[in-house]
Amino acid sequence: MSKIPVTVAYGDGIGPEIMAACLHIINSAGAELEIEEVVVGEKVYLSGNTSGIDPAFWDSIRRTKVFYKAPLTTPQGSGFKSINVTTRKTLSLYANVRPSRSLHPFVDTKHPKMDLVIIRENEEDLYAGIEHRQTDEVYQCLKLISRPGSERIIRYAFEYAKANNRKKVTCFTKDNIMKLTDGLFHKVFDEIAADYPEIEAEHWIVDIGAAKMADTPENFDVIVLPNLYGDVLSDVAAQIAGSVGMAGSANIGEHAAMFEAIHGSAPRRAGQNLANPSGLLMGGVMMLVHIGQPEVAERVHNAWLRTIEEGIHTYDIYREGVSREKVGTREFAQAIVARLGQQPETLAPVSYARGAGIPTAMPAVYRKPAQRELVGVDVFLYWDQDGRDPRALGEALKSTSSDEIALSIITNRGLKVWPGGAPETFCTDHWRCRFMSPVDGQPVTQQQIIDLLQRVHEGGFDIIKTEQLYLFDGEPGFSLGQGQ
Ligand code: NAD
Repeated sequence: MSKIPVTVAYGDGIGPEIMAACLHIINSAGAELEIEEVVVGEKVYLSGNTSGIDPAFWDSIRRTKVFYKAPLTTPQGSGFKSINVTTRKTLSLYANVRPSRSLHPFVDTKHPKMDLVIIRENEEDLYAGIEHRQTDEVYQCLKLISRPGSERIIRYAFEYAKANNRKKVTCFTKDNIMKLTDGLFHKVFDEIAADYPEIEAEHWIVDIGAAKMADTPENFDVIVLPNLYGDVLSDVAAQIAGSVGMAGSANIGEHAAMFEAIHGSAPRRAGQNLANPSGLLMGGVMMLVHIGQPEVAERVHNAWLRTIEEGIHTYDIYREGVSREKVGTREFAQAIVARLGQQPETLAPVSYARGAGIPTAMPAVYRKPAQRELVGVDVFLYWDQDGRDPRALGEALKSTSSDEIALSIITNRGLKVWPGGAPETFCTDHWRCRFMSPVDGQPVTQQQIIDLLQRVHEGGFDIIKTEQLYLFDGEPGFSLGQGQ
């Protein structure tokens, strides 16, 4: 077997100890790796490089295309961006694969039959990180969901299910509320599910879906989710399976892949030989499958299962009466190495057929653009006068309307407050004023919008943002005001 180059970061906090333990296990199992070590994270920030990323890091990853990463500390509250998020987005590692399987009765869990995989979209959604303070009172974060992004993560989930002989893919969204963004994700899910008739497909609204997953996780198999729901629910899944310290994660893209634990750098446990290396080890197992060394992955995974069922446990999963020996990070790794070649006796052993397990990423599909027709504009205003009475704002804005484009509704935090509106509604200083043609469905021009904005500005109003309203192949590309 020829050696496969892999970029490795030992990370921060407990990172160096758990990475050393994992590489010891993986190498002892016969992995053929050529390791290129890079330094990212706290050490780089502290040396004055505010990105936390040394330029040599990108060169290494572009060369090896495989990154095995221990957790990194992201400084909180300051301007530092998360290196994890930057790496995932820069390299387009769009598919985040997070398996959670219970190890009952050896690791405490209320869900002995749980065995599910969360496939989380990794690049879009609220994680685009586009945030603004728009008025004194109101802040916004843009939620971006794209068709190519949704298509490839959902197809990845079905390909994953197929490669791993999984029977069902479930999608969670909140498309009863976010009809356009989550609505697109759900629609694409239904379209792609039709290409996989052998795999059961189901959709739940995320709130009840999450409750069901936390209550009866054994009823789920593969779950595909937009970024934020996937982030939250994969931690829930890992925790209810036994511990966040036990789950690994693969981040797959067309140009590279990154493998890690789902937990962070647990700085309070650092340097004490206490941390559980299992999460990072499970990330390493997925890496071995991905780079074509599935026999090694199998040997590592089965020896780990055997160690767990023999009751050799780190502090986080140690339980009186079930565990036999409480061990540190190093001793746990040694126990696994001593069991390489053995199979678990009670827990089901794993088997990784060549090529299965972690499907490769597929390219995004670009479609012919829809016919786009401009039909109006939402003008967002900062307005804090007349006791914030929407009727006063509606009246004052009337003079800005023309025969081509006229005020149709005003909303506050999405709720229609003019015309009509209820006296009880609390209004902030942030108003959305929708202008459209007075003739139903009539298009407007960019010039008419620019002229309108000029009149609004001259009328003494404070414009904080505008959003053009389009029909796409005749379908509105904008939501209605609540209560409209
Ligand atoms: P954390 O996951 O680091 O730790 C939370 C708690 O979980 C710890 O106090 C510890 O009790 C337990 N724990 C976590 N991993 C464990 C392990 N392997 N063995 C035993 N116990 C373990 O979360 P946090 O404290 O919120 O974050 C610490 C730092 O890690 C932050 O800077 C955060 O930004 C970063 N972080 C990094 C990643 C990543 O690199 N992928 C992910 C999450 C958080």
